[in-house]
Amino acid sequence: MVKMVKRANVTAVLFLCFLFLFSSASFFGDTAYAGWKFLTALSTRRHYRDWQALETSHFRLRYTEADEQLAPWLGREADQAAKEVSTILQHQQTVKPWLVISPDQGTLREVFGWGEGTGALGVYVAETIIILSPQAWEWEVPAQRQAVFAEQGPLVHEYTHYVLDARAQGNYTRWFSEGLAQYVEYRVNGYEWIEASSSLANPHYTKQELEQYFDQLPNQALAYRQAFSMVSYLVELQGEAGLNKMIDLLGQGTPFYDALRQNYGLEQLDFIAGWRSWVQKGVRWYEIKG
Ligand SMILES: [Zn+2]
Repeated sequence: MVKMVKRANVTAVLFLCFLFLFSSASFFGDTAYAGWKFLTALSTRRHYRDWQALETSHFRLRYTEADEQLAPWLGREADQAAKEVSTILQHQQTVKPWLVISPDQGTLREVFGWGEGTGALGVYVAETIIILSPQAWEWEVPAQRQAVFAEQGPLVHEYTHYVLDARAQGNYTRWFSEGLAQYVEYRVNGYEWIEASSSLANPHYTKQELEQYFDQLPNQALAYRQAFSMVSYLVELQGEAGLNKMIDLLGQGTPFYDALRQNYGLEQLDFIAGWRSWVQKGVRWYEIKG
């Protein structure tokens, strides 16, 4: 999940996304998951409860004085992102998630207990999206920060995590969530995370590595790229309608690979074999431009 961003002489280590996941809802049950989500939301949001507030059509914003000027614009950007994601994922929002604008990396680190040298562009946890304010994107020149944020920012990506969570209630694998978030991000913004180490010419991670150790994998760019390509393969097979049917099955509590078999007629090994051979034919997965 660590994204290396290199600009001029500055190297910032950033989490592309930090996602907190509960285990399979089909194992723990919907009620336990809902209880966990409620308590986790309370515990996360207590840090931001006294911040300035603004309500938009889709979100409850929380921000500090540092982002007073930017907050209305961010709210509009977030509402637009929510509309576009909801069209693709056929989602009808019934509750308003929180959208917290963290003024700097230090504040994010403090809340999540991260060490020096780590950071995040966006975090999704329990109906709460936390983003790093565009004014803290220090690797971009100040005059361009808002524009780059609008093009590459984490709103679409993180809102997709929220929608999947709302629809499937935690019943999905990590690679599917990261792959879906990048797929929707690419569809809406045309943005994809490509760098030399993300090429699928590198030895691939195993399905088990992607499922159990996603955050610890040393080549995060590759793990994200692989997840994106796996979801793109599902789209190749049955389009976005297939993805939405898959999410419906997950929402009914069907275990992930049972849902894959029911929807695509593929066992786990056949899915991996099919994906590998499809990826080999796609030049885009071997690109290394940043
Ligand atoms: Zn993500």
